[in-house]
Amino acid sequence: LKPKFELTILGSSSALPTSRRNTTAQVLNHAERFFLIDAGEGTQIRMRQFKIKMPRIDHIFISHLHGDHIFGLPGIINTFNLLGRGKDLHIYAPPELQEFLNAIHNYIFTRLNYEIIFHNLEDGGKKLIYENKLLEVYSFPVSHRVKTWGFSFEEKKQPRKLIKEKIEEYKIPIPWRIRIKNGEDYTDEEGNIYPNEELTTDSPEPRKYVFITDTEYLPSIKSYFNGSVDVLYHESTFLQSELERAKETKHSTAKEAAQIANLINAKKLLLGHFSTRYKDCHKFIEEASSVFDGEIFIVNDGDTFQV
Ligand SMILES: [Zn+2]
Ligand SMILES: [Zn+2]
Repeated sequence: LKPKFELTILGSSSALPTSRRNTTAQVLNHAERFFLIDAGEGTQIRMRQFKIKMPRIDHIFISHLHGDHIFGLPGIINTFNLLGRGKDLHIYAPPELQEFLNAIHNYIFTRLNYEIIFHNLEDGGKKLIYENKLLEVYSFPVSHRVKTWGFSFEEKKQPRKLIKEKIEEYKIPIPWRIRIKNGEDYTDEEGNIYPNEELTTDSPEPRKYVFITDTEYLPSIKSYFNGSVDVLYHESTFLQSELERAKETKHSTAKEAAQIANLINAKKLLLGHFSTRYKDCHKFIEEASSVFDGEIFIVNDGDTFQV
């Protein structure tokens, strides 16, 4: 059985919130661990609306220091304190975020009951920034007006699963079981060999979620990904008709997002971070589907997607 791997969109507008769209924030639930990705204004209110168990969030990933990606953070930190949080909060962010929060801390947060542990994002390619038994999280630099990073959430390949009936039938001793899980054939005391495929089943294929916001078209990202990506979220602030504006502000168009989806073998493409100039987001799907054959979604606040 595969663990839960579910994404909830908390904000999908760029720069300005609208009556229907907050600015960027997402929550990823992997095996009941909750990861917050960016924290635009109003993120905690969205979490209440969409029934996200906010105190369960122990790790926050911040792509870059533009207001539409961080203005929700001080409110979350304050609420955690009021709710009596004691456990550490880990924040993975550009180094300058610490100064921003310290400034607020000096004037407003009198004393926090818990520790914030900062993990500075680094240049120089794709880096492992977090891992647990089931999951690895990587950061990688993209190209925007300020230093910006994307994040990749990648499941680890799990060992093979023992078939209980066979293990009992052949009375396989415990020390052997770990070796069999790792793919070895079993040899009993008389020298009989039992092939691994008879004793185990393969674990599910590891899944991957990639988050890329606020970047110009950056095909070099391809080098960070082998195999396929189950779900790619890619910003598409503009349509091709505003390509000049996209270049000027270092953002992407829907067509460019779709080209990236092709380059990294994405199965599903989620488009978001729309400029408020567009009233009808359906054109984004039309444009992206002219280059990308997989499934394409326009994300809305409150949408959930299975990875
Ligand atoms: Zn933005
Ligand atoms: Zn930005």
